[in-house]
Amino acid sequence: MLNLILFGPPGAGKGTQAEFLIESYQLIHLSTGDLLRSEIAGRTQLGLEAKAFMEKGELVPDAVVIGMIKSKLEANQTARGFIFDGFPRTVEQADALDHLLNENKTPISGMLSLEVEREELINRLMGRGLVSGRADDQDQSVIENRINVYGQKTAPLISYYSAQGKHFGINGMGTIPEIAERLKETVDRLI
Ligand code: AMP
Repeated sequence: MLNLILFGPPGAGKGTQAEFLIESYQLIHLSTGDLLRSEIAGRTQLGLEAKAFMEKGELVPDAVVIGMIKSKLEANQTARGFIFDGFPRTVEQADALDHLLNENKTPISGMLSLEVEREELINRLMGRGLVSGRADDQDQSVIENRINVYGQKTAPLISYYSAQGKHFGINGMGTIPEIAERLKETVDRLI
């Protein structure tokens, strides 16, 4: 099984690159952001609770996202592997993920960490906001908060996975195909 974490700050290109990785390696894509947005669209209780956090650029509580991932893993037990996109985002989420995957004896193969300069992230997110309609991509202060929250709560996961020998830094600046090629080179070494 190939279990990859696609990691990086908001705007690093995780969603775009996940599409390419899913196709190349036949993995199941688990994006907590996408799952939360579909809960909001479906006007579920979970969606209603999550919406307030997402609009401010804050993290949704760990228990909520861990529960969503747990049920997706249970529903896809015969998968060839998963690509986790936007999850984990805290040390508590990473611990929970390790625990869930250990139960199935299918640990994380590697964390692919896209590295992009802050100014470029803001430009990309503002550009995406113009076309995606995502409210959290249209307000500069929300974008800056998301990048700050990433720095405080999510970036520590780089040392978490480095300590396990599973962190792979990838230059996330350049064209989409260039970045895809860098990811592929790294993933091919993990297979
Ligand atoms: P994303 O689509 O990954 O940029 O996520 C959009 C928003 O959803 C984030 O700003 C958070 O409010 C929320 N979110 C997505 N994934 C997580 C997660 N793993 N933990 C907490 N909040 C999350």
